[in-house]
Amino acid sequence: MNEPETAALLAAAKVLDPRFPKPDEHGVLVRLWQQQLRQVPFPAAQQALLSYYASERYRQHRQPISAADVLGEWRDAHRAAEERHRSHRALTQARQHPFDPDRLHRGVDQAVTQLAQRWHIRRGLNPQQAHERAAADRAARRAWLSVACPHCRAPAGEPCWRPTPRAVGRVRRTQPHPSRITEALQARHDTGTG
Ligand SMILES: [Zn+2]
Repeated sequence: MNEPETAALLAAAKVLDPRFPKPDEHGVLVRLWQQQLRQVPFPAAQQALLSYYASERYRQHRQPISAADVLGEWRDAHRAAEERHRSHRALTQARQHPFDPDRLHRGVDQAVTQLAQRWHIRRGLNPQQAHERAAADRAARRAWLSVACPHCRAPAGEPCWRPTPRAVGRVRRTQPHPSRITEALQARHDTGTG
């Protein structure tokens, strides 16, 4: 608010509340209020004035509004509006990107392929060869993951287990047991997809 707007706000306060101090002719009150409320837009300050004099708080103590009250009302309204805006945006995004398990799986596939590709490049393949090897790795991984392991009994969809010394637990293997690969190849052969 600038000074004329602040003067208009104080005049409105005086109309609403006979106990509100009458602005002095030197404009000291106006300048003090304007300094405190320079960041508050005039319509928001008017709204703050109206809601203050309609509030339960005012009905109880009947104190004239202060610049700090206007600032507080404005900050509360500002926060509430931002909160509404944020939750609206979150809702819109959720509607635009509903959870899609297929996309998740594609993402995992891509990540696995890229890791494999980097691994092959570090071992001396050129990028094209590495890409082909990585794609083959991914297809193989998908194939053996689709069957249970006859050796360690890992169910379909889960990597093989490796027994640990002293049987304190089991650890996942990054590579499947050979019999699981045989099993996967056999399954593909049986269904005619391999
Ligand atoms: Zn296994």
